[in-house]
Amino acid sequence: MKELYHWIDGKEVKGTSGRFADVYNPATGEVQAKVPLASDAEMNAAIASAAKAQVAWGATNPQRRARVMMRFVDLINRDMDQLAEVLSSEHGKTFPDAKGDVQRGLEVIEFSIGAPHLLKGEFTDSAGPGIDIFSMRQPLGVVAGITPFNFPAMIPLWKMGPALVCGNAVILKPSERDPSVPLMLAKLLQEAGLPDGVLQVINGDKGAVDAILHSPVIQAVGFVGSTPIAQYIYEEAARTGKRAQCFGGAKNHMIIMPDADLDQAADALVGAGYGAAGERCMAISVAVPVGEKTADALIERLVPRIEKLKVGPYTAGDDVDYGPVVTKAAKENILRLVQSGVDQGAELVVDGRDFSLQGYEDGFFVGPHLFDRVTPDMDIYKTEIFGPVLSTVRAKTYEEALDLAMSHEYGNGTAIFTRDGDTARDFASRINIGMVGINVPIPVPLAYHTFGGWKKSGFGDLNQHGPDAFRFYTRTKTVTARWPSGIKEGGEFNFKAMD
Ligand code: NAD
Repeated sequence: MKELYHWIDGKEVKGTSGRFADVYNPATGEVQAKVPLASDAEMNAAIASAAKAQVAWGATNPQRRARVMMRFVDLINRDMDQLAEVLSSEHGKTFPDAKGDVQRGLEVIEFSIGAPHLLKGEFTDSAGPGIDIFSMRQPLGVVAGITPFNFPAMIPLWKMGPALVCGNAVILKPSERDPSVPLMLAKLLQEAGLPDGVLQVINGDKGAVDAILHSPVIQAVGFVGSTPIAQYIYEEAARTGKRAQCFGGAKNHMIIMPDADLDQAADALVGAGYGAAGERCMAISVAVPVGEKTADALIERLVPRIEKLKVGPYTAGDDVDYGPVVTKAAKENILRLVQSGVDQGAELVVDGRDFSLQGYEDGFFVGPHLFDRVTPDMDIYKTEIFGPVLSTVRAKTYEEALDLAMSHEYGNGTAIFTRDGDTARDFASRINIGMVGINVPIPVPLAYHTFGGWKKSGFGDLNQHGPDAFRFYTRTKTVTARWPSGIKEGGEFNFKAMD
């Protein structure tokens, strides 16, 4: 059995806690590796060593730090296929989708190359007689990234790139379900010239996370995962005086107006609802057609498209639409929620419950499901299912559809399909959700904008990547300097306006 490791001080280090988690191949259901789960002592030693390495790295000029990122970009491109292959084998997503996972992370590394510009402070010349004021963006020190299973390349890269280029040392605690790609990325960063110790990849579960939260050395925590854990980490981090941004779960609604192109809307829904087996925080899980006629026509178009979906292992070719879900427990949870939908009276229009794939009977495959006539009191509406299950909630009017999306506790992403500019503008302006698509089903902003949900989908003030990441991973120091020409004789006892 392959035994994975931690990445400490630029070396592979065996786990010493004696605790391990299984890493599956979700397509076959086989355990392909075991990953060590770090103890407090292992985590604290790695953090201490990162703190030592951070001193010189923080003092390295931003252009040199950016050059490491430039080389990192080339190396990721060089190894793209290998990274995507390992990613698919541990996560289960298709090979083209795995490349997309790496690519969307890579774009944040490309953005990070702009650090010398993004880290420039502010300067006021002659704020008073002989007085200049300037602000500096300084690294925080040692920061931690805690990441989920569903984007094992993209989200670790979102955490590492901006934090490192700002001059911090990073402790990355990736998901224990698919930890190999983050370990590969750490090796590439070393090859790109990152000094040893500046990035430590420490595997683990709740124990490792708690060691991060209790460490007085860690200055900031960037978390992505489910909402209960996001909230827990946000509260613990605040209690121990750390800066925190914690992104959680989602239930993304797509509103389909009567004037929308329904073929386009159906295509968009199928891709956004079932791609990556629905294991995306930006997946559309609720379709909200406005008006009975729109709903009937939409369902009529969705059913044949969903029945045609090709579900299979990533090795079965690039025309596979989606693969298995990540674990047997995830599969069981999805099927339990589907059953609750049936029991609570929703209409199961496409039933994937008996899905089985010859030769892969032990894999964690889930057939596609489509529900119609779902109501807001049902568990399948309230809960994030994180599987290939699309629920349709029929709304009578635009206002009712808007109110539905606004009343849900999650606020990550949403979309509207319409040909009417006024409706689209009104929707974008009024909706209380962080990322909005207009005729775009998965509105994930590009690297130079920022990514973040509202309500229970995000805790903390600043978003991920884009300019916000540079604010999150630095603190501002403001210097007021007065030179002799402006200094008057005698003490000054009152606050004065600058003259
Ligand atoms: P998860 O919350 O189970 O795990 C996320 C991380 O937290 C992992 O590193 C895990 O080891 C750690 N963790 C798990 N249980 C913990 C505990 N009790 N205490 C401390 N740490 C713990 O999430 P997941 O299943 O890996 O990922 C799927 C979830 O992530 C979904 O809810 C999805 O919507 C969400 N997600 C959100 C975004 C976003 O940007 N909002 C992006 C991707 C995924």
